[in-house]
Amino acid sequence: MEDCVFCKIIKGEIPSNKVYEDEEILAFKDINPAAPIHILVIPKKHIASLVDMKEGDEILISKIYTVINKIAQDIGIDKKGFRVIVNCGEDGGQEVAHLHFHLLAGKKLGEKIV
Ligand code: 5GP
Ligand code: ZN
Repeated sequence: MEDCVFCKIIKGEIPSNKVYEDEEILAFKDINPAAPIHILVIPKKHIASLVDMKEGDEILISKIYTVINKIAQDIGIDKKGFRVIVNCGEDGGQEVAHLHFHLLAGKKLGEKIV
């Protein structure tokens, strides 16, 4: 998708601090972290949001959770814990229209999510 900021990051047209990469998935540090650890995990396939998933994409989404698990173990937040958030659409506060999973950790996170 030409005008998508995350597609540009995937193509290397915009620099990012990569944490993990394979053929289908990329993880990089959020430019404006909301917690000491704030990583975005995205599919390389442009899926605009959770509601734009197509049949078969559930395999990719399940792989994303496996990658999140791997990253959590690699950077040592698996014991203390973390939070995964997916914002969807206007009311969900989604600003970038390329499906992404926020991985937040590194401190005791707030109890409320709204
Ligand atoms: P959303 O509000 O769509 O759920 O989250 C979008 C996230 O992408 C925000 O946390 C924002 O800081 C991050 N973001 C937006 N543009 C860039 C960028 O160019 N590079 C990186 N690393 N993060 C970005
Ligand atoms: Zn995209």
